Amino acid sequence: MDLQQLHAMEANCTQENLPRCTAACPLHVDVRGMMAAIRKGDFSAGYDLFAKMAPFPGIISRVCDQPCQEACKRVEAGDGLAINALEQACRNFNTQPLLKNNLIPNKNKKVAVVGAGISGLTVALNLAKKGYKLTVFDTGTEFGGRLLEFPEAKLPRQMMADDFAILAKLGVQAKLGVTVGNHAGAGVLFNDLLAEFDAVYLGLGQIKAADFALGLEMDSDGCICIDPVTFGTSNPKVFAGGSYRQEQGKLSLIHSVAAGQSAAISIDRALQGVALTFSRSHEGPQPTRLFTSTEGVEPRPVVVMADSGLGYTREEATAEAERCLDCQCMECVKLCEYLKHYRAYPLSYARQIYKNMTSVVRKSNQMINSCSMCRLCEEVCQDNFSMADLCREARETMVSTGKMPPSAFGFALQELKYSNSDLAALTRHEPGFSQSQVMFYPGCQLSGSAPGQVIQTYNYLREKIKDGVGLMLGCCGAPADWAGEKEKFIAAIQSIKSEWERMGTPKVILGCPTCFMIFKNNLPDIPVEFLWTFMDQIGLPEVPSAGSYTLAVHDSCTTRHEREIHDSVRNILRQLGHRVEELKTSREFTECCGFGGLMQIANRELARMVVDRRIDESDKDYVTYCAMCRDNFTNRGKTTYHLLDLIFGDKNGKMTARPPVGYSQRHEERARLKTTVLREIWGEAVQDKPALVNLVIADEVRALMEDSLILTADLQQVIEYAERTGNKFRNSTNGHFLACYKPAYVTYWAEYSVGETGFVIHDAYSHRMEILDK
Ligand code: SF4
Ligand code: SF4
Ligand code: SF4
Repeated sequence: MDLQQLHAMEANCTQENLPRCTAACPLHVDVRGMMAAIRKGDFSAGYDLFAKMAPFPGIISRVCDQPCQEACKRVEAGDGLAINALEQACRNFNTQPLLKNNLIPNKNKKVAVVGAGISGLTVALNLAKKGYKLTVFDTGTEFGGRLLEFPEAKLPRQMMADDFAILAKLGVQAKLGVTVGNHAGAGVLFNDLLAEFDAVYLGLGQIKAADFALGLEMDSDGCICIDPVTFGTSNPKVFAGGSYRQEQGKLSLIHSVAAGQSAAISIDRALQGVALTFSRSHEGPQPTRLFTSTEGVEPRPVVVMADSGLGYTREEATAEAERCLDCQCMECVKLCEYLKHYRAYPLSYARQIYKNMTSVVRKSNQMINSCSMCRLCEEVCQDNFSMADLCREARETMVSTGKMPPSAFGFALQELKYSNSDLAALTRHEPGFSQSQVMFYPGCQLSGSAPGQVIQTYNYLREKIKDGVGLMLGCCGAPADWAGEKEKFIAAIQSIKSEWERMGTPKVILGCPTCFMIFKNNLPDIPVEFLWTFMDQIGLPEVPSAGSYTLAVHDSCTTRHEREIHDSVRNILRQLGHRVEELKTSREFTECCGFGGLMQIANRELARMVVDRRIDESDKDYVTYCAMCRDNFTNRGKTTYHLLDLIFGDKNGKMTARPPVGYSQRHEERARLKTTVLREIWGEAVQDKPALVNLVIADEVRALMEDSLILTADLQQVIEYAERTGNKFRNSTNGHFLACYKPAYVTYWAEYSVGETGFVIHDAYSHRMEILDK
């Protein structure tokens, strides 16, 4: 992933975009933060956030025309927030000093401001804070300009004086009662100002600039031409703004303040010789892409003040702030346990991942490796942000640069290798046929979880289709794809393709949703159909009725866009006489069972949380059409049927939920399935491979092995090796042996004793440490 890709991804997650109130506010006051502070009763913190952006907080808290309120998302469910009244409450109940002491570096440059209205004073304040020497000229006898038109009750003069006190404190000179211009009667000639000062700001009111005959370029209405971004004029030393620029009747005080702030930035840049126009798009009101759902938000009217003259009381202010929706997006985080687990949102993960990819010291591999790649985030995101693509990209990069630890997905890759080895893989035409009209590909998970049902399904297909049904046992390569092992994945799908060609290019009927996705996306030449749509079309096998139940359907995340499959699954359930309950999220919004993306291998604790959350959604028994979903749910104690459990029932035709199936059992069953079909269907005299040694494993030890991804076959190797070579320790206290064996990169340890029917396993663990023969 390069920087350009990162930026493209970043642009898709809108979570860090401004909330609508802040985006509409010309000063970008952090309203959301201020509301949060008020809700906590911390008016001083609220005031700090407000005053950080508002140059004269007392005045603005009284007379802002609050464009934010109209933009507020609350409007979709009632009135917008009374933001200005809450700013006033922050000012009223703030207990911190209003004026803070700032150390100002002296810039030794002089700026004149003509006009002591709010825009001119904003320029003066901003530049004085930066260390410039400011002089403010005005024809009036006091500061305030248009502000002086507000009645005392609306804008107390003392409050104005308090706000303006900072100007004197910063050394701003006031020349009041003075007219500036180049006309007769002007007390100070504009040209003299230009000669004396390094820059001049004209913060003029609603009087035509031509009256001043300033010698600046004018438009046809006789107004000074002003650059709308920089507030510069035809004279590089002169900047202009204020209500003069605004339409009569639509005067906005807060826009005058914003103009003053922008002009101050320009003047500072001009005096420092820096480009005026660079990176200014964030100034002033702007649109925002932040998505905030108001679904289910109850309308609530604005809190009315008991005394409008006094403003909100503390309690009223807190109640009003509670109406704030605290606008966020987080649509994906609300639904994804993985995103929630790492305590942030996709945009911040994209940055962390990029940092991880480019830094020498790598961290957060587990975060990259834990996404289940279920693509629910893409589904709910307005801009289709794909965490799955991001994590896959990162995993591939880590593998290709040798930074993926072999243990990360080693177990799943070993299982892939095993499923496609001679021990478990098989491709055959139906006995008595030299070609196949269709080929059944059950997938390694169904083969490991329910080998009997693979055989039943194969027999059913052979009954229904008379022109030859081939069988192919193996793994579709999904674990390699998820692990970022591109080469291994390509090898797996190429081998499927060449076997399919060898079989005469039949249509393939898939028994696993993950295989379905892999075939569809990566083997476009192969015509495929999912078992469920096929069965729905050609009719179910004749089986005794299993009764009538209400079952909650869990759709597989790998089929989220396969509406036809969803419908067929539900049709089949109804044909079997069951009632279907839909889970809160289903079909295209379904959730992962924790198997996808190898989440379970990378982060077992998280995968458990994902499963538990899903199985808690309904107290009904679940039905799935993926072997791994069934096994994951069943292993966490939820009664869950695979669709084939219902179709075939048990031997009495009863609906009985199969017990949990662990890694070891799935591993062994794959090889057993191959020998069984060869023996029973093709009539070959094959023997099951004899176990290296017999093991006796108690349930709690088996659970521990399952948790640590240790297979029975791994411990058989440990003990066979220890007994053959004598490389073992004996614990003289309890007589147990301790031995280890390292078939590839993982060392397996077993503590065992010799029992009557086999070796008794007392404990087992594994690690990646090297044991040297010295
Ligand atoms: S849904 Fe998620 S990824 Fe999309 S904008 Fe919202 S927070 Fe960002
Ligand atoms: S609801 Fe709150 S955060 Fe959202 S726009 Fe309104 S004031 Fe801002
Ligand atoms: S687990 Fe699924 S929803 Fe969550 S980030 Fe990964 S792909 Fe998106």
